[in-house]
Amino acid sequence: MEDVIILGTGCAGLTAAIYTGRAQLNPLVLEGTQPGGQLTTTSEVENFPGFPEGIDGFMMMDNLRKQAAKFGARYEHAKVDKITIENGVKKLYAGEKTYEAKSVIVATGARPRLLGIPGEKEMYGGKGVTTCATCDGAFYRDMDVVVIGGGDSACEEALFLTRFCSKVTLIHRRDELRASQIMADRATSHQKIEMAWNSLPQEVIADEKGFTRAIRVKDAKTGEEREIPCKGVFIAIGHIPNTDFVDGLLDRDGDGYIIPESGSQVKTKFPGFYAAGDCVDHVYRQAITAAGMGCQAAIEAERWLAEQV
Ligand code: NAP
Repeated sequence: MEDVIILGTGCAGLTAAIYTGRAQLNPLVLEGTQPGGQLTTTSEVENFPGFPEGIDGFMMMDNLRKQAAKFGARYEHAKVDKITIENGVKKLYAGEKTYEAKSVIVATGARPRLLGIPGEKEMYGGKGVTTCATCDGAFYRDMDVVVIGGGDSACEEALFLTRFCSKVTLIHRRDELRASQIMADRATSHQKIEMAWNSLPQEVIADEKGFTRAIRVKDAKTGEEREIPCKGVFIAIGHIPNTDFVDGLLDRDGDGYIIPESGSQVKTKFPGFYAAGDCVDHVYRQAITAAGMGCQAAIEAERWLAEQV
């Protein structure tokens, strides 16, 4: 039986791996479908303390991974579908495989939210609809694209896309951005970015070959509809926590975020069972806060394990 199994290799999971590794707990880290988590799809991380020039998101996660491995973290690919607890032992089911652990840290993060409008699914991934400008932006060189959303992610994606695209229309459902002032100012003052305020996406429209040719939006105030021609639709409307596998086991809120025990950010109702990062935190959702929660969960696990002997 493992002392500690960590689910997820984003900032929270890998920080927990560094701390439990340094505590000689020999953590087993299970990587799901997106090794390295959301930061691997970010271009420049400008706000993580200690990097005055910023750092590439992929590089940062690779560094964390190596740092944890240096202290004894082991990695396996496994997507956990279910967890049960019997006599305090946590049993993890991942397809054909099962794992047993004394303590578990769930740090499975969150995935991009989609709009659920006609055309979105049909053109998602390769035909013009995407959730990752860093991954796909370069495919849209000299083309017109749209970004949907009004938060920091949408502004960041729009600004990133100005490097390649001829024009970026930022479509937001209200007349005021949710993004931080600095990001909002950068986006709204950029000469390649045009704002489409009060615009509700209705449908992604395909050309005769099935590739994106436009998006139809409805004016939230007048109800009037119009088409915005574009080759790419970048959706940046927030995230859904990856927590379905703990349904019925842990308490979750209406959006699926794990609810920690009162008085703690990372403890669940089961001793030795912790949750950290974007699968719990729907308020801050930053690399640094996720890393902080991973650290807290690791220290809690270490102390709890020490009490068990
Ligand atoms: P967010 O702040 O939750 O913003 C989501 C945006 O999508 C909102 O503007 C929302 O509109 C819009 N939206 C949601 N559902 C929609 C729908 N069905 N149709 C149309 N629009 C919809 O998410 P985020 O931008 O991903 O940011 C998440 C967190 O990460 C935030 O705390 C943010 O500060 C942080 N972040 C920071 C940076 C940075 O500092 N560089 C970069 C990226 C993210 P409403 O405004 O009307 O609700």
